[in-house]
Amino acid sequence: MAPDRLDNSLLVIFGGTGDLARRKLYPALFNLFVDGFLPPALGVIAVGRCGFTRDSFRQEILLPSLETFSRRAASLDAYFEPFATRLHYFRTDIYDPEGYTRLGQFLVELEEAAGSRGNRIFYLAVTPEHFGPVIRSLKETGLVPARGWQRVVIEKPFGHDLPSATELNRQLREAFSEEEIYRIDHYLGKEMIQNIMVIRFANTFFEPVWNNKYIDHVQITSAETVGMENRGGYYDRAGALRDMVQNHLLQLVTLVAMEPPASLATEAIRDEKVKVLRSLKPLDAAAVSKNAIRGQYGAGEIDGQMVPPYRQEKEVAPDSTTETFVALKLFIDNFRWAGVPFYLRTGKRLPLKVTEIILQFKSLPDILYFKEYGELRPNLLVIRVQPLEGVYVQLNAKRPGNNNYIVPIRLDFCQNCEVGVNSPEAYERLLYDVMRGDPTLFTRWDEVEAAWKFVDPISAAWAAQGQPQFPNYAAGQWGPPAAQRLLICDARRWWEENGAESIS
Ligand code: NAP
Repeated sequence: MAPDRLDNSLLVIFGGTGDLARRKLYPALFNLFVDGFLPPALGVIAVGRCGFTRDSFRQEILLPSLETFSRRAASLDAYFEPFATRLHYFRTDIYDPEGYTRLGQFLVELEEAAGSRGNRIFYLAVTPEHFGPVIRSLKETGLVPARGWQRVVIEKPFGHDLPSATELNRQLREAFSEEEIYRIDHYLGKEMIQNIMVIRFANTFFEPVWNNKYIDHVQITSAETVGMENRGGYYDRAGALRDMVQNHLLQLVTLVAMEPPASLATEAIRDEKVKVLRSLKPLDAAAVSKNAIRGQYGAGEIDGQMVPPYRQEKEVAPDSTTETFVALKLFIDNFRWAGVPFYLRTGKRLPLKVTEIILQFKSLPDILYFKEYGELRPNLLVIRVQPLEGVYVQLNAKRPGNNNYIVPIRLDFCQNCEVGVNSPEAYERLLYDVMRGDPTLFTRWDEVEAAWKFVDPISAAWAAQGQPQFPNYAAGQWGPPAAQRLLICDARRWWEENGAESIS
């Protein structure tokens, strides 16, 4: 891809010393720099409370971040110095109004030195309780409106429920227009997620069968083997439903289920996505009991190592009732999808790190081969999002030989197995899109709102059900037994082992 010509701008990162900035943002910016995708005079200002000098910030934060997390670390010798000249450290407390005045003066100085038009991006890489106060201060102290264009990037979680999300949105809208707000859902920056629309709408043989006539059901799994790492405090207040389902998993549902947009314009795509969310069949309390399974991990074994239970993780309450696993069965009430179950599951401390989408096709009638060989496997389309990136189709074919043995085979495209393919990180694409002003891969407010409207009744029903029997799965298992039953009761099963059957 040839880089677009980008306007010069300043990128102010609130939380410039934090985990997200170090693990994702600086490496992504560096990779973009090495690949020639940054505007010629982008300035990056990391904001934090610690007393770094510009040089100590580069040596103690920036360099280790790039050495550890950049996929272009081999280019550091050649590119670190020119990249580092773009970075500045600004010390202030985000609750200090005078700090914003100083920051404003600093930005003007940088803009004048660069001869730029005063375009500003504010990245809120701070924990959510700070979102509102930072936005308010930006406005009250005159950092916005900027002289040129202005954009704000806001990390997840976007609220805790619909009322808190609505309030956060109200605060944002006092300082920024909807077009200037970039709500990050980093799943949307992943290569294979962007590929879903291409697979669907650029291939003649998928679109005609992409409906309830041919598709039996859809499975979406986003599984992690890790526990809380350093996020126990946040996670214990959020849980898997809010942390994963409300945003990432429902966004995947929209991309699988949306109608073809009228064009590839941002709003045309977002319009179709939001229609999917609005068509989700609401789950009432009875449906939640049946179709929304929650779990919390106990002690268990991951990769041959014993790991502690969730309730013993750092910053987690010893009697926590927070779910670390969710499995859901949902339906989309529209002509294309009526009657097709979408099974979603996500969790921590599961046996595999894998994100994938599986469409299982309906079996043919019980005649010919299906009559003779009752155990024929269904056709599957598997979209692998991570860690493997690719797509494969599972078919039935004759095994070579004198007998008519039918075996499943795969037409398999593994993108990141190809030598020399080093896929860009999600944050590279997302930061690039913010700089060029393309919000297609970010969530619009009405999408966030519709997702909360679907998720809030599930949280409410769980709260009303009272104390769950936690822990109810051992680390290293695929969630509680009820998650398996969710499909077994429908005469289906989760495709495990990296998706479909292992094929000899
Ligand atoms: P973090 O490691 O706790 O970092 C928080 C940052 O906020 C630090 O740079 C801290 O700076 C700064 N900060 C806190 N209070 C401040 C204050 N009063 N004044 C100035 N700066 C202050 O958090 P994080 O993990 O990076 O997460 C940031 C956001 O990204 C959160 O919304 C999180 O949900 C989201 N997110 C994170 C990840 C991830 O992988 N970490 C992934 C997805 C989303 P000092 O302490 O140096 O002052």
